[in-house]
Amino acid sequence: MIDTVMQRLGVTEAQYRQGDYVVTSPTDGGEIGRVTLEGVEAVAARIDRAEKAFKQWSRVPAPRRGELVRLFGEQLRRHKQDLGTLVTLECGKILQEGLGEVQEMIDICDLAVGQSRQLYGLTIASERPGHHMRESWHPLGPVGLITAFNFPVAPWAWNAALALVCGNSLLWKPSEKTPLSALACQALLERAIEAFGDDAPRDLSQVIIGVRDAGERLVDDPRVPLISATGSTRMGREVAPRVAARFGRSILELGGNNAMILAPSADLDMAVRAILFSAAGTAGQRCTTLRRLIVHESIREEVLERLKKAYAGIRIGDPMEGHLVGPLIDAQAFEQMQSALERARQQGAKVFGGERQLADIYPNGYFVSPAIVEVERQDDLVRHETFAPILYVMSYRDFDEALAMNNDVPQGLSSCVFTTDVREAEAFVSDQGSDCGIANVNIGPSGAEIGGAFGGEKDTGGGRESGSDVWKSYMRRQTNTVNYSRELPLAQGIQFD
Ligand code: NAD
Repeated sequence: MIDTVMQRLGVTEAQYRQGDYVVTSPTDGGEIGRVTLEGVEAVAARIDRAEKAFKQWSRVPAPRRGELVRLFGEQLRRHKQDLGTLVTLECGKILQEGLGEVQEMIDICDLAVGQSRQLYGLTIASERPGHHMRESWHPLGPVGLITAFNFPVAPWAWNAALALVCGNSLLWKPSEKTPLSALACQALLERAIEAFGDDAPRDLSQVIIGVRDAGERLVDDPRVPLISATGSTRMGREVAPRVAARFGRSILELGGNNAMILAPSADLDMAVRAILFSAAGTAGQRCTTLRRLIVHESIREEVLERLKKAYAGIRIGDPMEGHLVGPLIDAQAFEQMQSALERARQQGAKVFGGERQLADIYPNGYFVSPAIVEVERQDDLVRHETFAPILYVMSYRDFDEALAMNNDVPQGLSSCVFTTDVREAEAFVSDQGSDCGIANVNIGPSGAEIGGAFGGEKDTGGGRESGSDVWKSYMRRQTNTVNYSRELPLAQGIQFD
């Protein structure tokens, strides 16, 4: 199947069958491709080309640049099934979610096309007669993109679609666990570039297939004014100071530790469905996965009973075949999950689920039943993001205590409350409420739409991607003062003669 989709997506066998770095399927551990890893010299050469491409592309009027993104969106619509299938084969999320990721790419293209006619600045009142002040937004330069395995295509597109309409060239270092999806996105974008015509330079978008040293080369280069990096907090801690040391800008989208406060007035049918999707979906490997359930003590037992029943019915198996939960990415992810569960047991927590599944059919695929872990307090284990389907359940007595628990973790990505009490709902989204970048009411923490800005605070890195006014991050701001009078008055009334 992999060959059929790669062929339809326009990736050549030379690109994905001939290297010495083996790409494996998380479902059965089998080889699905071989790629060639690039070293630091190849990255430097790519940056040279990206600089030249930027000079050409930044001169193309923004609405024309939007036309390229429109053509790319068309390619994605045409190949949604193929690319969604490839995402599922390579990173193991179920097909529905693979398709959902591609739909997000289509959505951001639509948004970026409109945005290409709306890269507007301000006019500002000048204190001097005969003067105009305004703010302009100009293209920035080559944009470096680093992405994680669990969303191998959508976060790239959130950045790429906006960066392109803003007049920038792209250098993408995808996760070494999912290079094939990146090659496919690049092939589709190249088709759009070809259809667009000569104004689009050949090296407008480049993919760097490499491991950490390739990422570091990109991060350290002063010719790349913006690094947008998605991945673990560990990676962000390494990348952020390196970019800052050369006065570059970064957008950081790092780990999350997302909570739901479940109040006694909540619609429990809705809440249980939301928990199932956000805690167990994508085998707990979303940055916005629900990891902490803070439930009112009066409904704790009822909720736990309903959840365990729902968890017992989750269909686990081949992500291509109508199951709800596919495999973990690899053996290391499985071991990290098991060691977190073991620590929880040692600390006296009650653990439900979490066992390996289907090992007889897939000895090299790491399927697990999602786990529910009842803990007394929010200790270091709960505060740490274990990238696997573990839901820690804790109870609260009054709403302020629940809010404090929601905020008392290092990460600040997503959060939600289920309540029908308007005071609780409004308090949660107020300045004194959730400290996260995303705070939802009666919706789980995952599954964001692209119209809003996406990202989080604290150890999540503070970056924002996707909608709202995020496009400004991909441009440089310039303040202009134009004197159309015959005098030369100075600001602040200063006399200099
Ligand atoms: P990871 O940090 O291991 O790798 C992410 C990317 O960073 C990879 O491309 C990797 O090669 C690169 N990288 C690692 N160290 C680097 C360095 N020193 N310099 C340059 N590049 C480096 O993350 P992962 O395991 O692929 O993804 C899972 C993590 O990503 C989780 O923590 C998850 O919460 C987070 N994530 C966050 C978001 C978000 O939007 N906040 C989205 C998806 C995933």
